[in-house]
Amino acid sequence: MKLVLEIIGIILGVVVLGLAVIFFIGRRGVAPVVDGQTLPDGAVQIKDGFTSAFLLDAGPGKAVLIDAGQDSDAKAIKAALAARNLQPENVIAILVTHGHNDHFGGIAAFPNAEVMAMAADVPLVEGSEPRRSRLGSLFGASPTGIHVEHVLTDGESLDLGNLQVSVFATPGHTAGSAAFLINGVLYLGDSADSNTDGTMRPAFWFVSEDTALNEASLKALAAQLSQDEVKYLTFSHSGALEGFEPLANFAATH
Ligand SMILES: [Zn+2]
Repeated sequence: MKLVLEIIGIILGVVVLGLAVIFFIGRRGVAPVVDGQTLPDGAVQIKDGFTSAFLLDAGPGKAVLIDAGQDSDAKAIKAALAARNLQPENVIAILVTHGHNDHFGGIAAFPNAEVMAMAADVPLVEGSEPRRSRLGSLFGASPTGIHVEHVLTDGESLDLGNLQVSVFATPGHTAGSAAFLINGVLYLGDSADSNTDGTMRPAFWFVSEDTALNEASLKALAAQLSQDEVKYLTFSHSGALEGFEPLANFAATH
């Protein structure tokens, strides 16, 4: 019995070490998230462990979140709200970039927020289906208690408080991944990352459903947008990049 436990322990140790090596090599050169980085329109990137969320001012007493982090208490997001004299109740909407749990973990902390996600990822956000990535598929489905009230569609425009949001489907990282363009800032979620040299890379293959589709989506996005519209690119697991060029260059070279 002791021997069996030892063997299981060794196998688990090797798996964990293997995952650590894959992440270390795969994420080399990624620009780190800058906690509290403020974008030109006042939106702020909030670090939450290894992920991040964005807090946007939507008018007096109104805030919008892009994703809600991994922490079920949403402590970092609540602190950022408090710094603006806002409460969790002031969050009117949460735009979920995709259905991975480090992007919707804090949703329950915002009781008045309308939760919005693309149709293909609604089962992931609500937990009615197991995750589909290589890593995520190892775990089964478990209901999250979250209800997606507004199912987003590609090309949709919506007004949230005084914010105008353009929705773009960017399937690949997950089937229901989305990018949002708000006030000249393009929120790419996990569909891409920034590099320390100022260039952009596609979604991390190891935690993505379809890497070829991800790259095609980024190229299609670049073709739909221009430098007049896009002043900043943001990413959930890396720092923001200024300008449209990193996306345009990515599209031109892939
Ligand atoms: Zn993800």
